[in-house]
Amino acid sequence: MTDTIKHSWAEPYKIKMVEPVFMTTREHREEAIKAAGYNTFLLKSRDVYIDLLTDSGTSAMSDRQWAGLMLGDEAYAGSRNFYNLEETVSKYYGYKHLVPTHQGRGAEHIISQIMIKQGDVVPGNMYFTTTKLHQEMAGGKFIDIIVDAAHDPNSLYAFKGDVDLDKMQQVIDTYGPERIPYVSIATTVNMAGGQPISLGNLKELRALTHKYGIKIIHDMTRVAENAFMIQQKEEGYQHKSVAEITREICDQTDGATMSAKKDAMVNIGGFLAVNDDEIFDEARNMVVIYEGLHTYGGMAGRDMEALAIGIVESVQDDHIKARVGQVHYLGNKLLEFGVPIVKPVGTHGIFLDAREFLPHVPQDKFPAQALAAELYIDSGVRAMERGVVSAGRNKETGEHNYPKLELVRLTIPRRVYTQAHMDVVAESVAAVFTGRDKIKGLKMVYEPKYLRFFQARFEKV
Ligand SMILES: *Cc1c(COP(=O)(O)O)cnc(C)c1O
Repeated sequence: MTDTIKHSWAEPYKIKMVEPVFMTTREHREEAIKAAGYNTFLLKSRDVYIDLLTDSGTSAMSDRQWAGLMLGDEAYAGSRNFYNLEETVSKYYGYKHLVPTHQGRGAEHIISQIMIKQGDVVPGNMYFTTTKLHQEMAGGKFIDIIVDAAHDPNSLYAFKGDVDLDKMQQVIDTYGPERIPYVSIATTVNMAGGQPISLGNLKELRALTHKYGIKIIHDMTRVAENAFMIQQKEEGYQHKSVAEITREICDQTDGATMSAKKDAMVNIGGFLAVNDDEIFDEARNMVVIYEGLHTYGGMAGRDMEALAIGIVESVQDDHIKARVGQVHYLGNKLLEFGVPIVKPVGTHGIFLDAREFLPHVPQDKFPAQALAAELYIDSGVRAMERGVVSAGRNKETGEHNYPKLELVRLTIPRRVYTQAHMDVVAESVAAVFTGRDKIKGLKMVYEPKYLRFFQARFEKV
């Protein structure tokens, strides 16, 4: 890594093509969000100025990736792009077998159905919406074993994605290792605010689970971002490259589900990767039922080519430094404005602490949902709720799950927006913060059965 400007995170690319976005009036946005039931997922993209809904599938592909699309081999079986992807996954992530899927949840579905039996428990470093739902649908119960600091937005602990090993031991003692098919480990932890797990902690977890013959399945959606944080913050990794650290993380685990729409900078795609021959055999058989033949799994040949190139780009030190640098730039601006956010700043977005932002709005009036709507009305910036709406209902009691973290996520797409866009976002959040007393909360008027945050509708109270 050449570091000519010592502390800058400036981008290692320049812009070759632009996509116009539309500026709207406040009146237009008030109508649009009302029509969308105060759910930013239901807004039309046409009505959004800066879209920070998600970093999923929203990245800008490089010229190499676009060129890769032209190399698509669209044979039904045995596309050369599949073999290229298989080789890339094996080289950069180290997993032995690859099963492509249409996106991350396709892989979660397959691994959950194969490994989880009715009555099993799946410990993990905080839940993720689709991951947990697939574990439950396979008959399992998710148990959170993340460190307590992860639930505290003000804790400055650098590795809030770490597992509490005492909690893990307790799960083993309570249920017995035979009822734990695997531990579900995410890099980075999305729902905690994009927080990394340390390699030291992962290695200790590996030693503990090894003793009981329990596997680790890795949700590797943002593994390169996690690797970068290890390089920056964990003792002993300063002289290793992000690519080397990424590989070392994967080497501690038995298999992985990947949403390639994040780290790997493609608009659609994912995979399941495993080391175990028998699990691979079952997964390869199952993918043909739900996704497609085992050499494309729901992706076009060209998609697999763009993904293979994206994986290589995702672990370049200069790339990841600029990617995370931009997120931290926005975070630091908001901190300067005195806005309550999850600290320390994570890797893929800024998480506003809606409890502290709107202390007068009780959690059953959906403060984070209301705040996201207000931010959109102010400036056309689209964020999303990560609080009580996302947490859904308790499977047994039917009550809302009330998570400790009630957050609004401003997720930054990779290589898409400029520093000036980040300034607009920060200024708008600060403006909403100044007028926060006027925000009253929402009531839910339509609630879907699964993953309700995507389609629920609200009205102002
Ligand atoms: C996005 C995501 C998934 C699910 O992947 P999709 O590609 O959206 O199906 C799983 N885990 C984490 C941590 C994610 O961020």
